[in-house]
This record gives sequence, C-alpha cells and structure tokens, in this order.
Amino acid sequence: MESGTTVPGRYWHRLEDGRIQCDLCPRYCKLHEGQRGFCFVRACEHEQIVLTTYGRSSGFCIDPIEKKPLNHFLPGTPVLSFGTAGCNLTCRFCQNWDISKSRQMDRLMDRAPPEAIAEAARRHGCRSVAYTYNDPVIFHEYAIDVAAACRARDIRSVAVSAGYVKEAAREEFYGAMDAANIDLKAFTEGFYRRLCTAELGAVLDTLKYIRHETSAWLEITTLLIPGENDSEAEVEALTQWVVENLGADVPLHFTAFHPDYRMRDVPATPPQTVIRAWQIARRNGVHHVYTGNISHKETGSTYCPGCGLRVIGRDWHELSDWRLTQGGHCARCGTVCAGVFEERPGNWGRKRQPVRLDTGPLH
Ligand code: SF4
Repeated sequence: MESGTTVPGRYWHRLEDGRIQCDLCPRYCKLHEGQRGFCFVRACEHEQIVLTTYGRSSGFCIDPIEKKPLNHFLPGTPVLSFGTAGCNLTCRFCQNWDISKSRQMDRLMDRAPPEAIAEAARRHGCRSVAYTYNDPVIFHEYAIDVAAACRARDIRSVAVSAGYVKEAAREEFYGAMDAANIDLKAFTEGFYRRLCTAELGAVLDTLKYIRHETSAWLEITTLLIPGENDSEAEVEALTQWVVENLGADVPLHFTAFHPDYRMRDVPATPPQTVIRAWQIARRNGVHHVYTGNISHKETGSTYCPGCGLRVIGRDWHELSDWRLTQGGHCARCGTVCAGVFEERPGNWGRKRQPVRLDTGPLH
C-alpha cells in the first residue's frame, strides 16, 4: 500500500439516511460527508470511511519490552515503539494525553512508511515493534501493514491497547499481532461509562477472544486509581474473572496512578495498595502477577508456578536472575513458565532511546 496520509478504511457501511457508519469500534460513529469520527483520525470522505494518519507517527523510541509492560515475551529485548494521534476512549486519567488527545496533525512529525519502520527495527536490533502511546485499533490499516513488513523480517508485533474494537476488525488486527498488553481499566461498567465513556463488556470480549481464538501472547494491565477502582472487592472480582475466563497463566500487571490530565486532584496510588492487589491476585490463583510504577523487587519478579523458585528477577525494567531453560522451563523443577522465552534473555537493560526515521518530508 502507498504511504500517503489518507487511505480507505475497511470496516464501515452506508445507512439508509445516507450517512456512513464506522464499524471498527463499539462507538459506531455515523458520519456525514466531511465529518470526523470520535477518534478524530477516521473520517467520512467521498462516501467512505478513511484513515487520515496512515504512514505518520508521533515519534519513535526504543524501550525495554518490560516497559509495555510484557514480562513473558522475549524478556530483556529492545522494542521499537511508536504511536500516531487520537484515541477512541476518553479516559480522564490518560497518561499519554498529549498524543492521544491531539487533534493537531503537527504532532505527527515523522513520515513513517511500514517498510521504513520494519527496517529501522531491524537496523537497531529490535526483536519487536510496539503499537502504543495511543490506541492502535484506530490506525488499523497502518498497523496491519507495519506488522506485515515486520513479519517479513522476523520481527514481532506487540499491541498495547484498551481492546475496544468490534469483531471483524479485531480478527484481522490480532491475527497480525504476536503479543498484546490490554488495559483492563477497571471491573465495573460504572467506571468505564463515567471515566472512559465506554463499555467494560466489549473489553472482556476482546480479552477472551485474544486468549482463546488467537496465538498472540496476552498480558493485562490495570492502573489502580485511589477511590475509583482499587477496592479489595473490585480486585477480588477482577482477578477471579481472569482465572475463570482466561486461565491462571495470563500475567496481570497492577500499576500505580500518578495525577495527570483531567484527574490531577486525585492523589498518587500508595505502594501498599498495589502490593495488596498483587496479594489478592496470587491468593485467587493467578500464577504471574506484577506491580508497576513502584520499586519492589519481590512483586516485580517471576516465580515458577510449580516450585516457587524466582525464575526471573526484575527491578523496574531491569532483569537480574534468569533460571529458565530452553522453552521456558524452570531450572529447578522443570515446570513450564507460560510465555515466549528463548534460552537466554536479552541485555537491553532499562534504557530508552529516541529514534528518528527521517525518510523525507511529509506530503
Ligand atoms: S474507530 Fe473512530 S470513527 Fe470508528 S467508530 Fe470508533 S471512534 Fe468512531
């Protein structure tokens, strides 16, 4: 596909009243000619839905894969991360709001055709490319083409998403991905409605779909926000649902909130709240639970579900111990640790390295 900025979208249909309905996500925007959708990057042009940000990025950075966060997918390796602009949710606590809420295309500095992204990943020794910073669901056609260019070079694709997407698009999207970290923002419809103007049920459907219908490796992140989604009862319900519906091997990350965007009046999450969530999840049988945005080696490390040995030591995004053999077996008891592991971890460490693609001026 050409690397312009506006390309035809794939998921839409014409309504009887002449408007065009976007079928990509559960918002089902119904648009007149010239209107933009809720996510701002999809629009109705020439009686079809188009993506207006194809081939343009808000910037590139090489991160440790643990920062996505993915702790069971090629640990210790570098991932080339990028995003575009816009979002299909309205989270008042957004931690990337300058990108996701951007309606200015001047945020999209880098011209970034799919082949150039895959080549940059290869050149910099990245094992994967992450579609992140804003929700990749809304730049569907672009993400799919980048993933295809990566696959041709044996580079994996990682989606960091809220999972707010409809069935047909979801199938194509996750068919192109090798791993996903899905934000499960809370476990009540009230939270999703009030703070994200979205529906929890659609996200739970996506989680079950990825886990049971695709080969993509899945991890889940929940940002704990004081007074909003951090009660013991809610963490109990969330973790029980995960074990019953997704199984004990799907890793869960509980991360601490920092005041941001439209929730600057809410205090940061105390470390003990995050550690308590970790304890509840473990008690409910989740094999791999992690804390994030706090420094706590015990709850940041990976333990063998068979004998309890610490098989991967982790502090922030840096690995210490490594006690897994080929195929991810515990070096002591041989139990398989679920995930995508190689004989040795990568040695990227906790570095962040911004990258410019600079393939030429935007047209
Ligand atoms: S992807 Fe964008 S335009 Fe399409 S339904 Fe969702 S918010 Fe609306």
